[in-house]
Amino acid sequence: MATNLRVAIIGQSNFAADVLELLLERPHVQVVGVFTIPDKGSREDILASTAASQGIPVFKFASWRRKGVALPEVLEQYRSVGATLNVLPYCSQFIPMEVIDGAALGSICYHPSILPLHRGASAISWTLIEGDEVAGFSIFWADDGLDTGPLLLQRQCNVEPTDTLDSIYKRFLYPEGVKAMGVAVDMVANGTAPKITQTEVGASYDAAMFKAENQLLNLQQSAARIWQFVRGLDSVPGAIAVVQHADGVEEQVRFFGAHLYSAGPLKSCKPLQLQGLAKPAWVHDSGLLIEGSDGAFVNIRRIKRGSKMINACDWFKQAQHKPITDFSEDELAKRQLLSGIWQAILKQPIEASTDFFAAGAGSMDVVRLVEEVKEAFDVPLENEQVFMAPVFEEFFELLVLSLRQGSGLTGGQQLEYEGFTLNANKRQIRVPTQLFINGQFVPAQGNKTLDIVNPSDEQLLCQVSCASAQDVDKAVQSAHDAFYGAWRQVSPRQRGLLMLRLAELMEQHKEELATIESVDSGAVYTLALKTHIGMSIDAWRYFGGWCDKIQGSTIPVNPARPNNVLTFTRKEPIGVCGLVTPWNYPLMMLSWKMAACIAAGNTCLIKPAQTCPLTALKFAELTVKAGFPPGVINVLPGQGSVAGQAIADHTLVRKLGFTGSTPIGQHIMKSCADSNLKKCSLELGGKSPLIIFADCDLDKAVKHGMSSVFFNKGENCIAAGRLFVEDRIHDEFVRRVLKDLRTMAIGDPLNRSTAHGPQNHKAHFDKLLEFCERGVKEGATLVYGGCRVPNMKGYFFTPTVFTDVQDHMFIAHEESFGPIMIISKFNGSDIDSVMQRANRTEYGLASGVFTKDISKALNFADRIEAGTVFVNVYNKTDVAAPFGGFKQSGFGKDLGQEALNEYLKTKCVTIEY
Ligand code: NAP
Repeated sequence: MATNLRVAIIGQSNFAADVLELLLERPHVQVVGVFTIPDKGSREDILASTAASQGIPVFKFASWRRKGVALPEVLEQYRSVGATLNVLPYCSQFIPMEVIDGAALGSICYHPSILPLHRGASAISWTLIEGDEVAGFSIFWADDGLDTGPLLLQRQCNVEPTDTLDSIYKRFLYPEGVKAMGVAVDMVANGTAPKITQTEVGASYDAAMFKAENQLLNLQQSAARIWQFVRGLDSVPGAIAVVQHADGVEEQVRFFGAHLYSAGPLKSCKPLQLQGLAKPAWVHDSGLLIEGSDGAFVNIRRIKRGSKMINACDWFKQAQHKPITDFSEDELAKRQLLSGIWQAILKQPIEASTDFFAAGAGSMDVVRLVEEVKEAFDVPLENEQVFMAPVFEEFFELLVLSLRQGSGLTGGQQLEYEGFTLNANKRQIRVPTQLFINGQFVPAQGNKTLDIVNPSDEQLLCQVSCASAQDVDKAVQSAHDAFYGAWRQVSPRQRGLLMLRLAELMEQHKEELATIESVDSGAVYTLALKTHIGMSIDAWRYFGGWCDKIQGSTIPVNPARPNNVLTFTRKEPIGVCGLVTPWNYPLMMLSWKMAACIAAGNTCLIKPAQTCPLTALKFAELTVKAGFPPGVINVLPGQGSVAGQAIADHTLVRKLGFTGSTPIGQHIMKSCADSNLKKCSLELGGKSPLIIFADCDLDKAVKHGMSSVFFNKGENCIAAGRLFVEDRIHDEFVRRVLKDLRTMAIGDPLNRSTAHGPQNHKAHFDKLLEFCERGVKEGATLVYGGCRVPNMKGYFFTPTVFTDVQDHMFIAHEESFGPIMIISKFNGSDIDSVMQRANRTEYGLASGVFTKDISKALNFADRIEAGTVFVNVYNKTDVAAPFGGFKQSGFGKDLGQEALNEYLKTKCVTIEY
């Protein structure tokens, strides 16, 4: 039969409050008084508020004694409650013996070590610092010594290699400690509580780690000892180290997140000198590596500089970050207000270093913070910005920058760049002309530039920075850091929202983008608006929608009986992806690849074609406005043989998405294999056959036949490279094509009535002239064009038609990539032969057929070796439909769901249970 107990609880904090709540459930326990610390400012200790809510008398003493003598008024108040047992869960005050012995049954006290080991105030720290294999706690009968009283009960657990002071407390010492206090009280009530005298064998009394002089990390010891020391002070207060800067300045920092590291220094390391360490420590991509006196390494993941916690791998980047120092009075007042909002949400005092999530905030708290900040400061803010700046001071800086710029979408960066103003289309458009690396426009190494020529007048338009291999390396590093850093904080759904926001910005700027594209690449403005830009926007919207729908599957596998097995797959991003694109649809090629790449969760760098990189640079500016974190998207105009090659060769790039010619594709594939066996997808050249049967709708066949060749002045990878026209309609077909060509409006691409603009650049234009010369030389009949448009400056090539083209001729099997229609005849009774001729090419990108006979059409679709088949239509592509070639037209798809898989890897997880 349990004795009824009148319990006084003496202590503070959550631990004591939880013990109180536990004891309140016990019928034989009456908590008659709670003794705790005074309020801090207006904040009451949680033990006091919990007791008050239960109607339990609460006493708050700053101290219990003066000069070693118990204060009479305190004693009197203590005695007034008539306690028979004192329970001391975590008591930080010195309690006089009159109180310890003042309850008839005595005082029981919690201590977080296996006594007599680690007596003193920092027992958990010392458990880790000394490398104990077991941790635990003791409940003992308080006496007049320091943690020396007789033991009532003890509990222990193994120390795991990943344990820190925080983790061992949260997973064991706290929850099991609270329960054990309840058990101890029951034992007292039942008269079964032992009093086991502590031995002095193995006893230790350890220094208090709240004293700064004890927190200094000794680096002259083994890696294991360094690791133990750091984790013993993690997360409070952190081990102190001193960084010695090159200019002699010493900076005190604190280390967190230590672990032993056996992989040794990595390739991309930078030295950092620490006081007390003969060799430098190394900042690398996952932290700071310190070599212990035994030659082994310890890695530090996080460093606190002043009030700011940073990832150790960002040490040098953070050094460049200039914090705001010129806060106005108004901004400082806002700081107060913001601090109040944080405090109301987190229910704890806010310091500059308070981390929103480490303080226990969840997703609802993010929403509340965002909404309260929007309301209080009238500033646009998105949830992901909280994830990217979770520390109070960072968040405040972000807010100040947003307020100063009048926009919350800049990610804290005022975007400055060198550029030029394009005066065209009744607009003045500012266009960046520098490389875009890590969220900023920067010059190329050595200020190297590319000349950008307007193909409509052959005049120099501007000069654009030309990336070197070193610039590529910088961009890869920033994409790599973003992939393992900020981008990981962005959830798939937020990623989708960023992409949709970018699409919206592209929509808002579509006239500007189309104007730039038109001037830079020679695309007819109306087509640029609809296709080059329109389909780019569609791609970002389409893939933006995929972000939160990328999922693996659960797979029934043969279980290892009698156990069961669960096997499932995860679809994961690949990492840093390199993208290399051609010049025919500059922004669309970028978007087809990059939207899928980003939707899948990768980071990337793109090298657009050197002849027309301007829309890619304007696009880069919009990604900043959309709020993409720095490093996620990098844009590097440059030469294929230098910058493109450096991307293909880079060992941190894990995937290369390439669109271009077959010979360069072959070369790139070798580089991908030789460098690091990076995955690649290749969208290459084509010589797409289009078969027109006599039973077709001829009007339609002529219309689509024309656009199959002349769309975008023939600079169209799926352009019909060869037309097979049934002999019965051949002459009529040619006649109608020529009629249309004669009236085709050729001229300024910005003019809304123009149908045919200049070719993209001079080298290409010259190649088209050669192509035609060769056709004539080999005996094909040139019935129209084959030359420059007379009396016009600019790369205007007359739309061209060849007939009587025989299979052996160069122009019958090589791609022109220009406005050149190549026509061969076939006999309607010999479908097998025409199919064979259509397939007799190493390319296999697209194909088309015009016929009203559904059987013929379906037979064609069955037998043609091409990734895309058009029936009674041509050029009908859509962002939701997979696009890509067979044979030497490459492999891997752009667009559609299949494109996502090009930028994902599948991980298979098997669990036996
Ligand atoms: P390209 O000469 O192969 O160039 C494509 C891209 O590769 C350009 O950015 C080029 O840089 C770069 N490059 C060149 N050498 C490189 C190297 N060693 N390493 C890495 N990158 C390198 O092709 P293009 O003349 O620009 O484009 C026309 C071709 O693209 C045609 O064959 C066309 O059919 C094909 N294409 C295919 C598709 C499709 O989806 N299948 C779509 C559009 C175009 P530079 O700017 O310095 O030349």
